[in-house]
Amino acid sequence: MGLIRFFCIAIFLSFNIACSKQVEMSETVVAEPTPARTTAIADAFDYPIGKNPTVTQAKDSDEWYNALDLGENDHLGEDWNKNTGGNTDCGEPVYSIANGEITYAADGGPGWGNVIIVTHTLPDGTRVQSLYGHLQEISKREGEVKKREQIGLIGNANGRYLCHLHLELRQENSKDWNRPGGGYSSDRTGWLDPSDFIDSRRTFKK
Ligand SMILES: [Zn+2]
Repeated sequence: MGLIRFFCIAIFLSFNIACSKQVEMSETVVAEPTPARTTAIADAFDYPIGKNPTVTQAKDSDEWYNALDLGENDHLGEDWNKNTGGNTDCGEPVYSIANGEITYAADGGPGWGNVIIVTHTLPDGTRVQSLYGHLQEISKREGEVKKREQIGLIGNANGRYLCHLHLELRQENSKDWNRPGGGYSSDRTGWLDPSDFIDSRRTFKK
């Protein structure tokens, strides 16, 4: 009985190996050359939150507002919250503000929680990076993203704050290019105002 079982297992295993080898071989035969990666140009920008393309920084105009602007208390970004306050925005989707490529997606440390950085190539060839901090969840960790593609969920940096999205926008001369950095600094060389930048490049016009 034991011998029969042994043979059955042996036959089963060799059949599986033969099959997987065949799959590998047929995949090799049909495989085509991988086309060169061309990240889409970031020719338009939009806000990273909200269902509608009508978001502004003001608290009274739509569901969302910027609670802490760039430069306030040496803040290097903008803190996006729902008008309804508290933790009502926990778990809301976070979208890439433009076409680009995810170049950082990890836990940035105690003050950060989950962080995603997307690198965008502008039509003139220069690059900027958008950073999304304190995320409850990272939905996409690598690869190309489209404008308004979901990349994460709004969070609280593992309970450190009330839920909000910390949004930064950097140029290549930022000392924290492609890493989370400190979030606050009196030296804002290389940091841009996210809302001003988005407003001047969005497809939706107020
Ligand atoms: Zn912040």
